[in-house]
Amino acid sequence: MNEQVSMCFKITNWCNLCCDHCCELSGPKCAREVMPLVRMEQLLTEFQDIKIIRTSDFYTIGGGEAMAPYFFKDKQYIPRALDMIYQANGIPTIKTNAAWGRYESLCKPILKDLATVATKHQIVTTLDISIDEFHDNLGATTNIIETLMKNKGIAEAVRIFLVGFDTNASRWQLFKLRKQLNERGIKTISHFGINDDFFVQYKGITMQIFGSFNTPIYKMGRAAKTQVFTAEEPTGLPSIEGLTLTHCMTVDNTDLATLNYKHKEIINGRPLNDVFQSLLTKVYNPGR
Ligand code: SF4
Repeated sequence: MNEQVSMCFKITNWCNLCCDHCCELSGPKCAREVMPLVRMEQLLTEFQDIKIIRTSDFYTIGGGEAMAPYFFKDKQYIPRALDMIYQANGIPTIKTNAAWGRYESLCKPILKDLATVATKHQIVTTLDISIDEFHDNLGATTNIIETLMKNKGIAEAVRIFLVGFDTNASRWQLFKLRKQLNERGIKTISHFGINDDFFVQYKGITMQIFGSFNTPIYKMGRAAKTQVFTAEEPTGLPSIEGLTLTHCMTVDNTDLATLNYKHKEIINGRPLNDVFQSLLTKVYNPGR
């Protein structure tokens, strides 16, 4: 079986929302700081040296809220981070709560920035948006999709991936989102029987919206305190896609590396490959 690892830069713990179910211990009271770009660049370089049978080229920018730099009035951070990922031949995903879509001053400028970088490198940027029953972001997500559809040239550069839990409440959110889009003149067309994907159509432009409503629920972080969830602990095992085991490594801006949402090590000046190999040992030999 092949194995691969994807990398997530957890650039901040600051978040403009404060969801009860948050596994990240993030919120508006967390420090308004982000991982320095120079550190992200080092991690990107070291990630190329990770020794595993097969490495994935997928990189995620997450948080807290990954668009935090825009809230801190730093408009260069996200475009420069994307540039670095593209230059490393990577494919970027931004994990966001999408609440910036509420604000006219942020929604279109951010999407334009994403489109500019993506057009330059000829690769789309994915926005991974949670629209489950806990996030207050339906209107904002509707605004984002509407802006993409009604502004020529940006729909092609940004891909939307909607994520929810495997609950009726999450799917109800998806239904409400589609209803709001329809009310704004954006037709939504289902792709029944395969998954939660659907198409949006406006004046000759068609875009596929990807969906996945089977996110596992973990009782970690604030969720453990608020008892919002009743789900299992994370297993620490990589997810299996086809015949490939996919590990997920997150590094935050305190230099804490986490593998598969469970195994943790402080990097402490070591090469990323050493840290990864050590974390991998914990995955396969949890008792050691
Ligand atoms: S769950 Fe996401 S949006 Fe909600 S507080 Fe945590 S990081 Fe922010």
